[in-house]
Amino acid sequence: MNHAPATAGRLLRDLHEVGRDRRRGGYTRFAYGPAERELREWFAAEAARRSMDTETDRNGILWAWIPGPGGSCEQAVVTGSHLDSVPGGGEFDGPLGVASAFAAVDLLNTRGLTPRRALAVVAFPEEEGGRFGQACLGSRLMTGAMDPGRALALRDADGIPLAEAMAGAGVDPRHVGRDDEAVARIGAFVELHVEQGRGLVDRGRPVAVGSSIIGHGLWRLTVTGQGNHAGATRMTDRRDPMVAAGAVVVAVRDVARTVRDARATVGRIEPTPGGTNVIASRVDVWLDIRHPDDAVVPMLVAAVTERARSLAAAEGCEVTLVEESYGGSVRLDRRLRDRVAAVLPDAPHLDAGAGHDAGVLAEVVPVSMLFTRNPTGISHAPQEQVEDADAQAGAAALADVLADLLSGPVPAAAVVSSPNSRPAQCAQPTDRRTDPGRSMDT
Ligand SMILES: [Zn+2]
Repeated sequence: MNHAPATAGRLLRDLHEVGRDRRRGGYTRFAYGPAERELREWFAAEAARRSMDTETDRNGILWAWIPGPGGSCEQAVVTGSHLDSVPGGGEFDGPLGVASAFAAVDLLNTRGLTPRRALAVVAFPEEEGGRFGQACLGSRLMTGAMDPGRALALRDADGIPLAEAMAGAGVDPRHVGRDDEAVARIGAFVELHVEQGRGLVDRGRPVAVGSSIIGHGLWRLTVTGQGNHAGATRMTDRRDPMVAAGAVVVAVRDVARTVRDARATVGRIEPTPGGTNVIASRVDVWLDIRHPDDAVVPMLVAAVTERARSLAAAEGCEVTLVEESYGGSVRLDRRLRDRVAAVLPDAPHLDAGAGHDAGVLAEVVPVSMLFTRNPTGISHAPQEQVEDADAQAGAAALADVLADLLSGPVPAAAVVSSPNSRPAQCAQPTDRRTDPGRSMDT
């Protein structure tokens, strides 16, 4: 090892000022925006410091490799998370998993482990959907769960298409889409994440093993009325979609309260045209709905829509509903979970209420998750927190899990491999690859 080992807390301190949002508080690190690109540059530098080769794949996913014996990347053990954030989010959601991965690599190096297979650290783009509205976009493109044409047509709030944002970060959008070769390299994926609730605080433990990820969907409900003058229009003559939208927000909460374990949130509402002295002509209301039972989610959506239609009709308005994204509940690979539980016998098992790239990958490869304690229990907000000692306990737990997977068999039976795929290579052919060092200068 040609560098001093780093702790997860020390690595994160280098990122402390990147993407700070003075207006909202916390951090705004949108995919392919300036802050996330700085984090991608940091990723490449940390990989280089550990003599790991970095590649940016067809879907903008960063990979840093330590090849296995003979340079093989078959059945690699892969770990990492994402670098992007929600608007005004916390410091740890995403970067903690990547920093812990590099800290775990250092711990493995100090132990002098002789691995039987390759190890890769990854960072997925647009996990939060904060910029283009589609959560887990990078992993969904890679596994084929997201249509590339639909993805490339997505635009951010400023009207910039995904294709343009990717090109600006040095990723060629012409090659976006299902990537069986990249998936075939993964023998097992382990994602460490800051806990987004109070499970570990309540149990007084620093690290947990994930058992499932609950289903998560995003819908856009549009209320249409009649735009008009705020002063000249009598109260009796109005068809005001904002009034209907306000009632819908309350109805969303009321519907969710009637169903055990349901979560329903309106966190974003956008009136058009959005003038202070203008009755809006339409209001877009984004609904985030989650439930551990996949059969319950459509019932919740139907109940909300029915209430919204009648509330809108009472104001002379109409409602349309569009599904923006949906991923069902995921039970993480049992054999891998048993392996991880044997390595970390004292760690409690928790369900994840949030969506993760791990949930997308769980459809095609064995996946496990670890959670690091968050003393505030708050996430997607500036108050998200991780103590240095807990961050390092998480990195050490991750190193233990990686060491076990690197030196023993991986649960290979569940691995999907395309009949047409070539033998796994650590880096993909150069014509489909981007040099992250160069891309950062664009
Ligand atoms: Zn996250």
